[in-house]
Amino acid sequence: MDLAAVGTDVERVIVTEVQLREKVAELAARVDADYKDRDLLLVGVLKGAIMAMADLTRAMQRHIEMDWMAVSSYGSGTKSSGVVRILKDLDRDITGRNILIVEDIVDSGLTLSWLRANLMSRGAASVEILAILRKPEAAKVEVDCKYVGFDIPKDFVVGYGLDFNEKYRNLSFIGVLAKHMYS
Ligand code: IMP
Ligand code: MG
Repeated sequence: MDLAAVGTDVERVIVTEVQLREKVAELAARVDADYKDRDLLLVGVLKGAIMAMADLTRAMQRHIEMDWMAVSSYGSGTKSSGVVRILKDLDRDITGRNILIVEDIVDSGLTLSWLRANLMSRGAASVEILAILRKPEAAKVEVDCKYVGFDIPKDFVVGYGLDFNEKYRNLSFIGVLAKHMYS
């Protein structure tokens, strides 16, 4: 879905479709190089990471495995609650695996710091993080992300997997949701 199709719901575009494509290809090449000759399990965080996972893995030039988790840290609003709950767990045991968590965004960092600790405690060999977006100003806890697409201001954004009340995930770009949509 393009900007024209959402009208005034989106205040401004912050990452274009072309910028996303170029950045994801660049991240894919880095992951390929960093995990050369090593097993790699990509763990996508549902549902926000679906676009990133689909594009990233297709730009990679090696075999990977994919698994998915669903966790909730947000209600239906736009503020992080800090409470993380597993809604869907991994399908397989991850003992000894090299894991790369694929996320849409690091906002407060609460979800990812919890998730990394959770996966490490299951005996993974390594757990790294790839996030398409990061809001440095919103960080409540430091999360060491090995791969970050774009640092952005702390405005609430939608598109490329990111939603507001389950809408806008299918925007081909990332934009700031207009204030009149939620205030
Ligand atoms: P956390 O605050 O880093 O724990 O972020 C938790 C989750 O909130 C992210 O994985 C996103 O799914 C969601 N989230 C955070 N910021 C935004 C935003 O600007 N737009 C849409 N979803 C967001
Ligand atoms: Mg998410």
